[in-house]
Amino acid sequence: MEAVIPRRKGAPAVDPRQRLEAAYGEVLRALGELGYPTETDYNFQETAQRAAKAMLELVKPTGEINTEVDEMLSRTFPARYDEMVISKHNTCFGMCPHHLLPVVYRVSVAYLPGSRVLGISKLSRLVHLLARRPVLQEDLTHELAEILHARLETRGSAAYVEGLHLCMAARGVEAHEARVVTSAVRGVFRENPATRQEFLDLVTAPQLKLL
Ligand SMILES: [Zn+2]
Repeated sequence: MEAVIPRRKGAPAVDPRQRLEAAYGEVLRALGELGYPTETDYNFQETAQRAAKAMLELVKPTGEINTEVDEMLSRTFPARYDEMVISKHNTCFGMCPHHLLPVVYRVSVAYLPGSRVLGISKLSRLVHLLARRPVLQEDLTHELAEILHARLETRGSAAYVEGLHLCMAARGVEAHEARVVTSAVRGVFRENPATRQEFLDLVTAPQLKLL
């Protein structure tokens, strides 16, 4: 079975956390050269270690993601209905590969079951898991649709992703309100415009509070 992310061979030569801590040490020295008291101010004392830890929370190792996705897809349930299953407005976090700055996503995914369904909490878990990578939003969107179609063996799937990219909102063009919107469809969602439209209407309708 094809992995979501190409599998790497062997363990890394240097512990990634150590490498990140050393790199953030350099960042702090550069900030010092900009005039900030990174050597003397108490607040910067353990910043390199904290920043490394934070980076490792934003980005999960590819091996862990592949293993968890495999596990998830091996524990499915027999489908009792054939209507659309949808997990709407999952807020999750990732990172843009161009600037290594955080992205806040709102992700909706749907599929039309074949013979098996995924637990609904697993659907949300899949979205959160795949977002935690330095990956383009377009690729994330297509991979979600592909996994839900090809690997879950469904009749069709769809993904709709809105991203607030800090590289756009906080720097450069400072497009604070700009959202990047991407979508991907497979199977029946691609072949039948009414199914695709039903999905888009559901995920773009204003959210009314349940609680
Ligand atoms: Zn970026």
